[in-house]
Amino acid sequence: MLHYEVIVAGGGTAGFAAAVTAAKAGKKTLLIEEKAYLGGTATGAQICQFLGFANGEDQIPQKGIIRAVLDGLTAAGGSKGIEQIYLSGNKDLGVLVIPYESDVLKDVIDNLVCEAGVDVLFHTRVIGAETSDGKITGLRIHNEEGIQTVTGDIVIDATFHGSVAVSCGCPWKMGDENGVLQPGSLIYKMMNVDQERYAKVSQKEKEELAAKGIAEGCLYVNNLLARPLPSGVLYSNMSRLEINPLDTFAWSKAEMEARRQIRKISRFFIENVPGFEHSFLVASGDFTGLRDSRRIMGKYVLTNEDVLEGRLFEDAVAKSSYPIDIHDTDGVSSRVVKPNTGVFYIPYRSQVTDEISNLILAGRCISAEYEAHACIRVMITCMRLGEAAGLAAAESLNQGCAANELDGKILKEKLL
Ligand SMILES: Cc1cc2nc3c(=O)[nH]c(=O)nc-3n(C[C@H](O)[C@H](O)[C@H](O)COP(=O)(O)OP(=O)(O)OC[C@H]3O[C@@H](n4cnc5c(N)ncnc54)[C@H](O)[C@@H]3O)c2cc1C
Repeated sequence: MLHYEVIVAGGGTAGFAAAVTAAKAGKKTLLIEEKAYLGGTATGAQICQFLGFANGEDQIPQKGIIRAVLDGLTAAGGSKGIEQIYLSGNKDLGVLVIPYESDVLKDVIDNLVCEAGVDVLFHTRVIGAETSDGKITGLRIHNEEGIQTVTGDIVIDATFHGSVAVSCGCPWKMGDENGVLQPGSLIYKMMNVDQERYAKVSQKEKEELAAKGIAEGCLYVNNLLARPLPSGVLYSNMSRLEINPLDTFAWSKAEMEARRQIRKISRFFIENVPGFEHSFLVASGDFTGLRDSRRIMGKYVLTNEDVLEGRLFEDAVAKSSYPIDIHDTDGVSSRVVKPNTGVFYIPYRSQVTDEISNLILAGRCISAEYEAHACIRVMITCMRLGEAAGLAAAESLNQGCAANELDGKILKEKLL
């Protein structure tokens, strides 16, 4: 039976960061990913812009995983660095962002996991966990070789849905107090846009065009969202789908509806938006990006108030200034609330559970209230949570202590 010191389930922004960090700390690490590439939503759903920096971080951190990703992207021509954008076109909602080419990012992450010595299993799905005495004793995986069990001293759940934690019986929540989820979006890309002409379209004109598109049943958001990438292609986040990942038939229908939506949206742009007259739709995400799924209820549940008040924890492992950003279920608008102190922190206790001693959560499935989740879910934060998970796994093994009993102060000293 395959045995590793650290097993990471899910190779998205959080999972690859966790695996690279654990391997670099000298731990024998396995990364299991059901698709054939790493990056998860960042690459597969073609999100194309990293958000989640903390105020004052107008320079990329000088070391660590975010630095490595940006260096790799820049060297390969996949990013031109940090820019400022305004959420909902609102001048009070400026945030720092790194636009990137999602296909270049796949390569960059491949290089990082290979350099770190992570063993990667693609085309392999984690289908359940075996537990005994509050500990994961094995992970069941499925691929073309059949169903097997792999064992790990520490397991990191970076599956987006918290699937490992759920199969261990950890409690979870999904959606707001009524179980309502944020909409999902299928990202798409358009080529041959006259960017100079498009850049001259004012915010007011964008909103008027969006209102026209909504009235005609061709658009689903109250703004025009199309931003250029280094290749000159524009990427767009304008479709809106109600998706519950726990209803797979409905989810499947929604994937088809998402493709219908982006055909309609891109046609509207070609016919109505200055600069798009000779453009065409060239690519879309492999799947519709989900903003919501399960949130595992861990040792500490990060609250809305923690975020708004910028509460600093003794075991803080990540910080960010990204606001609470909830896309309304009507699909059209967003609710955006900035932290009062400009920055908020996430404690390590939100990454571990009472139930399972050798399990660490990474990425958007960590323990948070609905509103708090709406600001931790962005990718710079997910990478930070991955880095924290990988480091925590290594520290727990070095100290011979349970992952859910590790003193997070040690992590804070190293990470913040
Ligand atoms: C439409 C949309 C727009 C967004 N816009 C932005 C933005 O502009 N900027 C930003 O920073 N963030 C944005 N986000 C948020 C961000 O993209 C995600 O929250 C983040 O990428 C989640 O990272 P993750 O590592 O937790 O999960 P993921 O990146 O989804 O990674 C999970 C990985 O686990 C794998 N997996 C899942 N289950 C299993 C299993 N059982 N076995 C094996 N593998 C498994 C998946 O294939 C995937 O690779 C957006 C999200 C959406 C949906």
